[in-house]
Amino acid sequence: MLCLGIESSCDETGLALVRDGRLIAEKLASQVDVHAVFGGVVPEIASREHLRVLPVLFRELLKEQSLTVADIDVVAVARGPGLQGCLLMGLNFAKGLAFSSGATLVGVNHLWAHLTAAGLDQELQFPSLGVLVSGGHTHIYFIESPTMFTLLGRTLDDAAGEAFDKTAKSMNLPYPGGKLVDDLGKLGKVDKKMFPVPYIKNDNLDFSFSGLKTAVVTYVNAHPELRLDAMGLPDPATESAEITSARNNMLASFNYVVGRKLEVKVERALKRNRGVKSLIVAGGVAANSVVRSVMAGVADRFAIPLVLPSMHLCTDNGAMIAYAGYLMAESGYRHGLDLEAIPRGRVVPSDWICD
Ligand code: ATP
Ligand code: MG
Ligand code: FE
Repeated sequence: MLCLGIESSCDETGLALVRDGRLIAEKLASQVDVHAVFGGVVPEIASREHLRVLPVLFRELLKEQSLTVADIDVVAVARGPGLQGCLLMGLNFAKGLAFSSGATLVGVNHLWAHLTAAGLDQELQFPSLGVLVSGGHTHIYFIESPTMFTLLGRTLDDAAGEAFDKTAKSMNLPYPGGKLVDDLGKLGKVDKKMFPVPYIKNDNLDFSFSGLKTAVVTYVNAHPELRLDAMGLPDPATESAEITSARNNMLASFNYVVGRKLEVKVERALKRNRGVKSLIVAGGVAANSVVRSVMAGVADRFAIPLVLPSMHLCTDNGAMIAYAGYLMAESGYRHGLDLEAIPRGRVVPSDWICD
């Protein structure tokens, strides 16, 4: 079964081909540079970029593999969550392909796709606990099978990735700053008392990250020397070794709080779901070094394997959509041409057609 995956939910245009569960080729066009000047994704510009780039990537992908449209059995597309206009670009492209070639159409939940992406390089075991830490979401799922997810907890305000990006922005680090916060934090020393670890003294599995963001912004306002210049670089006239290390220490302490919050809630979820066979952690923030090591510790204590997608599969890509589409199609699911985008909220499987 040859499955084409199409990702266009935000600022990455991704196309990939998965044959019988194995990735054979992929194309990715990032719009990061296009949006960087605005300090965040501009939805209308993002949609237009997808429209411009999709046919080009598609033609290149098929040409390089010496394949034609007729070879594609399944067209999988991210149907949400994401930006409405962006999703529609991918969805309409997918529908056109499915209609003209007779391929099966499958609408994929972008968040589930993040969590099953690791299946491309290792065998997944179910049931599993899934932790999605991305730019727009922080979700804990009980994953019964690749097509059956139950949401156990979620962020009540900002996502983990947003906390990273806003921390970066408050210091003038370029967007998206998560990786830079990680890299600079690695050079610093953690002060566990610098920031409180909010919303852990309760018995739920939800998260809150907005208080942490405010704490960081307040701290930076009180220590303006920690800010970088408009280009995101230290000012050579004023930067001293003390300032550099104070900045790195602050970012290390921020990283620590994010890790600690995740640790408390994920441990709680595992205590309540003893039967799970693995802990899957995915999404852009799963690339974070502190998150990775904290989650490794948790999995260790529960004597289950930690499953992390390889780095390039952590952020948005077409391969994860192709793989999730393959898993759904293999289980007999498909959609009609009336498939709709679901920009926000639960991407419900109620409209799946199952043979
Ligand atoms: P969603 O899937 O929720 O719609 P998204 O797809 O935009 O959101 P991803 O692409 O999965 O999100 O992740 C992007 C986020 O990951 C950004 O917030 C970015 O700053 C963050 N990120 C990437 N690398 C790291 C890192 N090493 N440490 C912390 N954050 C990181
Ligand atoms: Mg992105
Ligand atoms: Fe994503």
